[in-house]
Amino acid sequence: VFVSFEGGDGAGKSTQSRLLGEWVEREFGREVVRTREPGGTAMGLQLRQLVLHGEDVDPRTEALLYATDRAHHVASLVRPALERGAVVITDRYLDSSLAYQAGGRELGMEELRDLQMWAVGGLLPDVTILLDLDPALLPQRLTGAPDRLERSGEEFHRRTRDAYLGLAVAEPQRWTVLEANRPIDHLAVQVRERVAPLLGS
Ligand code: C5P
Repeated sequence: VFVSFEGGDGAGKSTQSRLLGEWVEREFGREVVRTREPGGTAMGLQLRQLVLHGEDVDPRTEALLYATDRAHHVASLVRPALERGAVVITDRYLDSSLAYQAGGRELGMEELRDLQMWAVGGLLPDVTILLDLDPALLPQRLTGAPDRLERSGEEFHRRTRDAYLGLAVAEPQRWTVLEANRPIDHLAVQVRERVAPLLGS
């Protein structure tokens, strides 16, 4: 079972993925692998450092760096875990590239989709949960020093959000859209309800 969380920065993806993972382990006794992009592997951490804190790069270079991180993440961690029957929960996956690089950076959606599908050998999540947040609420939710992306303008974040919502509408059987501004516990219950049928209960 493969679950991805998507959404803007500060939407609560890492909190919800942790809560879901703990619940799956507790209630189902399944092996859970929680991971993230960019940076779910040792090489991925180096790529994350490069893309988020390195020199400014043009959008195509950025897109390829994310795709590189993802290809390695899938080949070395996600696919082996799924093959041994683990439940894999990732904080961001290929839809982040469609939202940020195709939407935010305005690169071509179809080309980017082809690139992602090639990079991951066609592996799509069973469920993708979008924690949807109005970008106007962003500044008050972010903590710590902003990275390069978090300093991008509100228009960028608006295009990203619109791209996410478009992806969710286009593939409703995979996506569930939740309002990220709701209380954490309330969201956690909605996430469980969506994932439970896949776990055989
Ligand atoms: O979610 P996380 O904080 O790990 O993401 C790191 C940064 O990378 C965020 O600012 C996010 O907006 C950005 N990002 C991106 N394109 C992706 C994935 C993440 O711009 N494909």
